[in-house]
Amino acid sequence: MAIHNVPIPSRQLYIDGEWREPVKKKRIPIINPATEDIIGDFPAATAEDVDIAVEAARRALARDDWGSTTGEQRAKYLRAIAAKVLERKSELAILESLDCGKTLFESAADLDDVAACFEYYADLAEALDLKRKTPVDLHLDSFKSYVLREPLGVVGLITPWNYPLLMATWKVAPALAAGCAAILKPSELASITCLELGEICREVGLPPGALNILTGLGPEAGAPLSSHPHVDKISFTGSAATGAKVMTAAAQLVKPVTLELGGKSPIVVFDDIDNLDIAVEWTLFGCFANAGQVCTATSRLIIQESIASAFLDRLILWTKNIKISDPLEEDCKLGPIVSSAQYEKVMKFISNAKNEGATILYGGERPQHLKKGYYVQPTIITDVNTSMEIWKEEVFGPVLCVRTFKTEQEAIELANDTEYGLASAIMSKDAGRCERFTKAFQTGIIWINCSQPSFCQLPFGGKKRSGFGRDLGEMGLEKYLNIKQVTEYTCDDAWAFYKSPSKN
Ligand code: NAD
Repeated sequence: MAIHNVPIPSRQLYIDGEWREPVKKKRIPIINPATEDIIGDFPAATAEDVDIAVEAARRALARDDWGSTTGEQRAKYLRAIAAKVLERKSELAILESLDCGKTLFESAADLDDVAACFEYYADLAEALDLKRKTPVDLHLDSFKSYVLREPLGVVGLITPWNYPLLMATWKVAPALAAGCAAILKPSELASITCLELGEICREVGLPPGALNILTGLGPEAGAPLSSHPHVDKISFTGSAATGAKVMTAAAQLVKPVTLELGGKSPIVVFDDIDNLDIAVEWTLFGCFANAGQVCTATSRLIIQESIASAFLDRLILWTKNIKISDPLEEDCKLGPIVSSAQYEKVMKFISNAKNEGATILYGGERPQHLKKGYYVQPTIITDVNTSMEIWKEEVFGPVLCVRTFKTEQEAIELANDTEYGLASAIMSKDAGRCERFTKAFQTGIIWINCSQPSFCQLPFGGKKRSGFGRDLGEMGLEKYLNIKQVTEYTCDDAWAFYKSPSKN
């Protein structure tokens, strides 16, 4: 049985360094997806709260205790946040699992990544002090120029539920490192740990208004943030459909946006692999980790025909071995889907695939031993053609669809046969082939002989319908900076473009 003894904190909105009740006093229940029980609630912000938070953020930027800090000073806050996250790691991991159904092992790993990300951007904040003012040699005597890197201003950060605190951190850490003041709007499906980040910021003494956290519904809290005239940029992670809405709202004010959206990523497996089991395990991890609720999930297996039968046999054996249970149970490797609506959506994808003529080779049902909770068996679907919904649309659940290929050319065409462009994986021993695929894949992330490992030093994002801009890496910081060129005329002589009246 699941053993935990962590009370769900009851929080308000985190605005201006304080807990503040939403203007409309509305709250939203928290449902544990493993049990379907209501385990608490959280505040629901509306446009009125967005206005208050934006004002608090603007004041923070105008105050010396945040607006005039050096990168080195901001790094101290980021490191203190990282330390607090690690101090509370076991409690936060349980809260994350209770909230979104992620296995406890994965929640704990996420928290390590959260702390590492704050540390990484602390390093970049310190390095920013040296790059803040960069002279540019124009090879001219009459002009002196330099480039300034300054905080962009007030930024709105809108995030999804699949990695609740980690996705927030990918935006909060670089935004604070850059010196911006931020308003975070986490997903209404998993907000608990993001609110705890507010408590951590309060405890480490982050200046009021530097980070504000507004939980609530997308249309009620996210939309007014996207269209707010005093928010200088929106950094969004979520579905392509919502991303398009955010971009439309921001476009009315010519507000810059970055969009990290969904995917339908391929994993291409060649018959030259050394070890079938190693490739099978990466294929499972690539699609079933976090119950398949991963934007980069490699959910289209493209397997060379000559090994397809042997590979699928092994894949089924490994899949049968996956422990599906309450995410807090030891050795659980697959927890529930985040919500009842998402569960229904995943089940509909599976039944549509069946109706379109695909074969459910394994899974496709609720696991028989789990009567409650939003559980879906890990599912493998074959006899898929490229016009089927299951081949084209992001499922965001533990559902793998399979196609075979004969030639390299056919494999690359299948891999790129998607409107999305987030990630691709290739499994092959042939280094030349891996290089050819690295060039040919139309995505922002390439994995060679693995799938999913992600490191905060590397830029993360996609092309095509997967969005544009990058989180993480140095690019993840640059998107929160305003670049200002400064040019000084240093010559004593007149410019002499116009005729001087004194010479008439
Ligand atoms: P979603 O689009 O439903 O919601 C994302 C966020 O947008 C939430 O905070 C939501 O409240 C908010 N929102 C909803 N309507 C809004 C509106 N009109 N205006 C402004 N904000 C609004 O996405 P989700 O279901 O939470 O997350 C799953 C999606 O996220 C998947 O498509 C997945 O691929 C994608 N994702 C992408 C990445 C990446 O880095 N590319 C990472 C994780 C998840």
